[in-house]
Amino acid sequence: MSVFIKKDKCIGCKKCVEVCPGNLFVVRGKKAEIRDERDCWGCTACVKECPQNAISYYLAADLGGGGSLLYATEDETSINWVLQSPEGKETTVTVNKNQSNEY
Ligand code: SF4
Ligand code: SF4
Repeated sequence: MSVFIKKDKCIGCKKCVEVCPGNLFVVRGKKAEIRDERDCWGCTACVKECPQNAISYYLAADLGGGGSLLYATEDETSINWVLQSPEGKETTVTVNKNQSNEY
């Protein structure tokens, strides 16, 4: 499992450093890097917390994703999970935060 960081979007805020339970992120020169992506177990905490949508979760072929990327946008009441295909097509699933434990 792995995450993909869009460095041009990263502002070096270190939210990913704070939330990753595996302490996998480091920020160098105001850009986040992942120390060893093989240690990521796919909790998606960093994907949800990044305020710049700079982190995507990589859905490899063995997960049925065929190289798609999953990222999230958030507002006060909902999280929008966006699945982006390798061709750039996007599908969004919106989850009400107050009902998220029902899924
Ligand atoms: S949370 Fe996002 S913007 Fe902030 S340092 Fe990490 S990747 Fe960069
Ligand atoms: S998905 Fe979870 S374990 Fe993987 S890098 Fe992000 S916060 Fe860390």
